[in-house]
Amino acid sequence: MRIGVDLGGTKIETIALGTDGQVLDRRRVGTPRDDYRATVRAVAALVTAVERDLGLAGRVGVGIPGTLSRATGLVKNANSTWLNGRPLDRDLSAALDRPVRLQNDANCFAVSEASDGAAAGAAVVFGVILGTGVGAGIVIDGRPIDGPNGIAGEWGHNPLPWPADDERPGPACYCGLHGCIETFLSGPGFAAGYRRETGRDLAPRELAAAAAAGDATAAGHLGSYVDRLARGLAHVINILDPDVIVLGGGMSNLEVLYQAVPARWGRYVFSDRVDTRLVPPRHGDSSGVRGAAWLWRPEEAPPA
Ligand SMILES: [Zn+2]
Repeated sequence: MRIGVDLGGTKIETIALGTDGQVLDRRRVGTPRDDYRATVRAVAALVTAVERDLGLAGRVGVGIPGTLSRATGLVKNANSTWLNGRPLDRDLSAALDRPVRLQNDANCFAVSEASDGAAAGAAVVFGVILGTGVGAGIVIDGRPIDGPNGIAGEWGHNPLPWPADDERPGPACYCGLHGCIETFLSGPGFAAGYRRETGRDLAPRELAAAAAAGDATAAGHLGSYVDRLARGLAHVINILDPDVIVLGGGMSNLEVLYQAVPARWGRYVFSDRVDTRLVPPRHGDSSGVRGAAWLWRPEEAPPA
C-alpha cells in the first residue's frame, strides 16, 4: 500500500492506493494554519488512522505547495509560509518512523498523470497547473526531475514569449517582475485581462460559452489566451520536447484549448511538425494526492 498526502494551505487530503493503483481509502481534514508542529502531528495522525483502519502499513509520499532546498534540506517557496525554513521531510519521517518522500505539488500532479493518468506510458511528461497560479513539473520515466534549486519545470515566472506591444511590460507579478507567464495564464490572470478590457467579471467557463455563442470580445480574449499558452508551451517544447503535456487546474476545463493550442503552437516551435500531445488530466483535482502516493512505485511498497 502507498499513502499519498496532499498538504495544502487549507486542507490535508490522503489517499491510500493498493498494488494495482486501486483506491483503498480517502480522507481529508483541515490544515492547522500557521502552526508547524500541529501540521506535522495532523499528517502523522491521519496516516496512522488510515493504517489502523485498513490493517495495513504503507509507504508515504507528501505533496507540498513549495519545494525542499537541496542546499539546506529545508522547505522553501511554500505559500503555506509556516512550512518554510522547516525540515518537513525529516520531521515527518521521525513522526511516522519511516522514510517519507516529499515533492512539490505540481510535480505530484505530473507524476500522477504520467503514472496512471492521461500521460500513462509516455517517457517525458510536462504537467502544468493553470489554476490560482501557474505551476509545472517534469516527469521522466515516471520520476519527477529535481535540480540543485528544486525548481525544475517552474516556468510560470518566465516572461511571456514573443510579447506584443500591448503585452509589454505586462502585469506586475508578486515575484517582483512584470509580464510573467503566470500573470497571463493563471485563472485570475485570465479574468483580470477580460476585466481590464471590458470592466466585467466572467468566469473562464462563462467566457468560453460567450465566445462560442458569438460574443466577439469574449472570443477575442479567449483567442489571446490560446495564443499566449501556445507561445509559452512552444518554449517548453523547444527545450524539453516532451511526449505529452498535461494541463491541470481550473483553466484545464476549457475544452477548446486541446485543439486550438496545438493548432497555434506550430508557428512558434522550431520544427517542421509538432507531434507533442496536449491532453486534459485524467484524475482532475485528485491528481495532487494520487501523485504523492505514486512517489513510491508499486514494487517499492509492501503488498496491500
Ligand atoms: Zn513572476
